[in-house]
This record gives sequence, C-alpha cells and structure tokens, in this order.
Amino acid sequence: MGGLIARDGEKFERFSEWFDNVLLTARIADSRYPVKGFLVYLESGWFVIERVRRRLEYLLEEDGHLPMYFPLVATLENFSREAEHIKGFMGEVFAVGKLRVGGGEEQQEAPLILRPTSETIMYPMFALWISSHADLPLKIHQSCSVYRYETKATRALYRVREIPWNEAHTAHASQEEAEEQVRRAVQIYRRVLDELGLAYLTLRRPDFDKFAGAEYSIAFDAWNPDGKVNQVATVHNLGTNFSRVFNVEFEKKEGGKAHTWQLCYGFGYSRVLAAIIAQHGDDLGPIFPPTVAPIQVVIVPIPYKGREQEVRSYAQEIYSTLRESFRTRLDDREDVTPGEKYYYWERRGVPLRVEAGPREAQSGSVMLVRRDTGERRSVPLTGLKESVENVLAEIERSLAERARRKLEELVVEVETVEKGAGMIEEGKICKVSWCGSESCALSLKSLMGAEVRGYRYDMDERSERPCLVCGSRGRTYLYVSRAY
Ligand SMILES: [Zn+2]
Repeated sequence: MGGLIARDGEKFERFSEWFDNVLLTARIADSRYPVKGFLVYLESGWFVIERVRRRLEYLLEEDGHLPMYFPLVATLENFSREAEHIKGFMGEVFAVGKLRVGGGEEQQEAPLILRPTSETIMYPMFALWISSHADLPLKIHQSCSVYRYETKATRALYRVREIPWNEAHTAHASQEEAEEQVRRAVQIYRRVLDELGLAYLTLRRPDFDKFAGAEYSIAFDAWNPDGKVNQVATVHNLGTNFSRVFNVEFEKKEGGKAHTWQLCYGFGYSRVLAAIIAQHGDDLGPIFPPTVAPIQVVIVPIPYKGREQEVRSYAQEIYSTLRESFRTRLDDREDVTPGEKYYYWERRGVPLRVEAGPREAQSGSVMLVRRDTGERRSVPLTGLKESVENVLAEIERSLAERARRKLEELVVEVETVEKGAGMIEEGKICKVSWCGSESCALSLKSLMGAEVRGYRYDMDERSERPCLVCGSRGRTYLYVSRAY
C-alpha cells in the first residue's frame, strides 16, 4: 500500500484538547450551549449521525423490527415499578412539571419524568397489545433522545445529558427465542460498527455491572486514544423481569398463560460519532470513512497564469463526472490558494481530494490525494468514477485495518495486579486471567483502579493461567480498563 502514516501523536497525548478542537473546526458539534451536558450538533456531525441511523434502522427493519415512536415522558409511578431498574436510574432522572406562574397553588398531575430509557414507557403498552402467542414475537425500535442527569463532568458526545440513540425492544414466547434474538441483535450492531471501520470489544458485562433489571448485558466497547473505552452499544436480556412487573402475558399455543421473555438494546449515535472521530482521526482532524463522510470528494483546481479558463472548465468537467456518484464539492473560490484549500478540507475530514492543474487538463488526467495517507496517484479522466470508487474503498479498508491494529496494540495481558495498574496508567486495556467468581472480579476494580468491563462474548477465550486475584484455576479473561 505504501504512503505516509497519519500523524496522530497529539491525538494520543492531548486527547481532550484535540477532540474539542476538532468538534468545532470540522463542524461536528458546538458544546458552548448554555445548559451543561447539552450540545448543538452541527452539519457534519449530524450528517454522519443521520447516515448511521438510516443504516441501522434499515438492518433492524430487515430483521422485523417495526419503527414506532413513544412519548418522551413517563409517570414516576410506572418508572418506579421495576425495583432494580429504578435503583439503577433514579439518581439521574430529570423531573418534569408545569412552571408555576404567579403565587397560586395549582392542581398538580401525577409526577412525570423524562425518559432515561423507555422500558417503563413501552411495556405498559406491550401489555395491551400482547395477549396470544400469535402476537409474538413483537419487535419494535425507535430513534430518539433519552435524558440522563449526569452529575459527573460531562464531555461532548461521550457523556452528555441528552443522548441521541436507537433503542429496540422485543418480546418473545420462549427463552430460546429470546436468546436467538440476542445473537441477532449483536450481529446487527456488529455489522454497523464494522462497516464504519471501528475496532471494539464485544463483552459480556460482569453481573454487578449489568443493566438495571436485566438478566445479563452485552456491551460493545470501542477503544479511545486516552485509554478510556467508549461503550457505544449494549444488548440486554431482561428475562421475564419486566413482563412480570408490567403484566405482559400471553396465551400459550399449548394452553395456559405465560410471561413474555424480553430484550432491550440500545445503540448510541453520539458515542459512535465520537468513536469515528477518535479512532480514525489524526492530528489534523477527523478522517471520515467514505460511507458516512458528509463530503466524499473535494476538487481543488490549481490555476496557472494565463491558463485559468482552461483549468476552470476542466475542473467543471471533473465535477460533473463525479457529482452524481459521490458527495462532491468543487472548491472554486478565487481568493483562496490551493494550499489553503487543502488544509481547510483536510481539517474537515474529507477522505479524498482531486487536484487538477494545466498539466492534468493537457493530458486528460487527475491527481487523487488520500486524506488518510497523503498518497498521491495520477489517474486518467476516462474511467475516473471507477478509480475514485476504488480509492474510497481502499481508504475504508485501511482505516478499519489501522483501527483494528491499534486495538490489538492497546490490549495487553498482565500477570500481576501491580503490572496491570501500571498499564492502566499508560492507557492500556488489560486482559486478566480470572476464575469466574464475582468477588474476584469486584476486587480487581479496586486493585487496578479501573473498570471491569467483562469477558468476551464473541469468542470462548480459555485461560491457562491462575486467577490473578485468588490464584485458583483461571477459566477465562476479564478485560479491565478506564471507561467513559
Ligand atoms: Zn479468583
């Protein structure tokens, strides 16, 4: 492949500054909105989210999920019905009420909250809709925002109070069918993340860290340059915990009644956007994977004294060749030098630049310049569409490959707790031999000063070593790291 290696030292050494800077210069988001934890999404950031949303929704609907939209508010009473659930979320719920104007006492309705997630909003409706096995499975999804009153320091896209996401909720007639849906949900999420070239770990969370009210939780942790993994999506098997509380029952085929087996799963759009920026970007800014890039190709004419008209019309010709197949921009500003234009579009994350000057106009060629490697390649105007398509595909592959190699580099197996704590300091993700006991997992958290993220869901990873905490026979590996 050759080409230059993207310079990304600053991204790793001063991640926060780098990231905040990129959000504004690349028109992704503006975090200066005067309410803590709320963001304005700018045109590039929102474009990427929209592309990701459409792809995810397409795959969910292909799998039989129906698109729906449920209200933003729930009664506090419904929200409080599942005991574990409320314990997990109560500390971060926004209350809603009527603004009291003047001094008079007003009749208050039952207290309302903004959805922090929608189980307790949807399942009372599921109870109305489901009565027989013929109503199952029920699979629905919605893209919306959920609200969590973060009290910790917020960070744009990663830790916000308004979270744009997609949530899917399903109800099934048996445990087996629910388990099968867990696998399908994981496949759908993996497919979307893989298409974006993201590198992540698919982990089953330890029991003490599962979703409040779930039997178990599977999560997707994307690596991040500062060593704090970024949970971009989760899949939860709720068992019959919620259907019992909300009386979601059905008449079985063989007679008699049963509670439905349910799942919920969520895919965080802002966190996925953060992962795209953080994993693929370099010191100049983001590098958008072509599938989601707001602009895929930018054409920069290189004018030459006396031949301006020739170059201008050649650039026009290139533009009309490409504009129907790619999101293309012709930068024909006359008061800006080509060098300034290069810099401008590089910082906007445009994956491919096309340069055309008098030499190209003469020979009927164009110069393609890759944003990720800086590699330059001269190709003929004839067949340009195919050439651009190929280069964009190459960029996509090599971004994915670079992200995957970085993840491999970040995951280190450690043989002692002390070594692990040191590695955590260096921003690594530690792989630790574990006997399988809850108490050993819990003590790792304090021993290593990091979060226990869980063990691999996508593969059966057997440990040959003793458990790092108790010394008895290791069964698998736990992944430990800092996290958002
Ligand atoms: Zn142990």
